[in-house]
Amino acid sequence: MQVLKFGGTSVGQPQRMHQVANLITRDQSPKIVVLSALSGTTNTLDQIGNELAAGNKSKAQQLISELRGHYDLFIADLLASETSRSKAESILDEHFGFLNVILKISFNEALIKDILAQGELLSTKLFAVYLEEQEIPATLISSLDFMKINEEKEPELEQISSKLTAIIDNHQDCNLFIAQGFICKNHRGEIDNLQRGGSDYTASLVGAAIKASEIQIWTDIDGMHNNDPRVVDQTFPIAELSFDEAAELAYFGAKILHPACIWPAQKFSIPIKLLNTMHPEAKGTSISHTSISDDIKAIAAKDDISAIKIKSSRMLLAYGFLTKIFEVFERYKTPIDMITTSEVAVSLTIDDKTHLLKIIEELELFGLVEVDNNQTIICIVGNFVSQKKGIVNNIFGALKSIPIRMISYGGSRHNISLLVDSYYKEEALKKLSSHLFDL
Ligand code: ADP
Ligand code: ASP
Ligand code: MG
Repeated sequence: MQVLKFGGTSVGQPQRMHQVANLITRDQSPKIVVLSALSGTTNTLDQIGNELAAGNKSKAQQLISELRGHYDLFIADLLASETSRSKAESILDEHFGFLNVILKISFNEALIKDILAQGELLSTKLFAVYLEEQEIPATLISSLDFMKINEEKEPELEQISSKLTAIIDNHQDCNLFIAQGFICKNHRGEIDNLQRGGSDYTASLVGAAIKASEIQIWTDIDGMHNNDPRVVDQTFPIAELSFDEAAELAYFGAKILHPACIWPAQKFSIPIKLLNTMHPEAKGTSISHTSISDDIKAIAAKDDISAIKIKSSRMLLAYGFLTKIFEVFERYKTPIDMITTSEVAVSLTIDDKTHLLKIIEELELFGLVEVDNNQTIICIVGNFVSQKKGIVNNIFGALKSIPIRMISYGGSRHNISLLVDSYYKEEALKKLSSHLFDL
């Protein structure tokens, strides 16, 4: 069985949804198709939740009406027959009815997750109506029946696997399943999600759960490019990446993949393909255990990073000092991305600033703490062999006019990370592109 995930832009217009239906019926091999919400919908739902949290009911009401207007036009174009359109209208009535009820009840934080879930519930139900109209046999299943996360917000892969397998076994005659990306149930049995961009993660968890033969991530670009195409011109797709390389790129900012979506596939050696819904014939990127060259593959950038320096001439070399520092971050469940040490100071970076003030307060017990916000990690990824000469030279040659705040090299053979002030991000990405890829 294959898992095919289509992102927001791939289902965001009626014609694109038609195209998705064509793509998934090109052959009869069994498939689970995972869909995101229509592009823009999750952002609007997020805004609705924020307005409600701030007590602005009338603004939330206005956003809900505008969104309904968008969906009214969408189904008019998506569907041809009156019967299908009236089915789709009932679906819109149900979900927009739900949003309108939320307007009337007293607000609590858990409602935000219910609001966000409406996007994927709508896209999959509307797609199922379209498939039915086209007489394409398919079964719509609910990810809320099998996608589970625990108290730590980590997926319960074994439960996902047993529940999903049971659902599939109940439909022996079906070889096309449609399921929602992003949404899941948490340990309290409430609706939750896998964080923004999480439909990729759904696809890879589903793939791992059923030991799929392949996971395909269909999006609006022809694979993982060698640099961020939103910032740099003349980027190009990379034909092959190893799981480790893809994970580094996703974690360090390549938006095409959710950062967590590699490990489930890697664990069960399931190849991932990144493909373009708008150009299905393009080769895209294949991600597997093998990496074809010992060279620089791609560059990614992760913004909104804070660098924290702890300076303590007295204690730094003392046994256990780093442990004490790490424990502070562990207590606040805040991951550290980069770390460098000198004799008198240690510098590290975080991107989750939820507990920054408390963290600083505790670190001040160990020394002088300095924080630099608005930093960007530039991550250069490839299959670097330590004996290979000149790689570092090339990178620093490209960046000779840019002040570099931190450098991390040697932690893995796939990644060289640099920290720069975000002001220099664009310049750094462009210069690295032209120096490292001869553009
Ligand atoms: P989807 O809605 O299908 O999940 P996303 O918007 O999440 O799509 O991801 C696709 C986008 O990721 C592309 O349109 C592109 O702008 C952006 N992107 C950022 N870095 C890269 C990269 N290195 N390679 C390809 N796309 C990238
Ligand atoms: N719809 C969700 C989002 O926009 C999940 C996804 O598209 O991957 O974040
Ligand atoms: Mg995405």
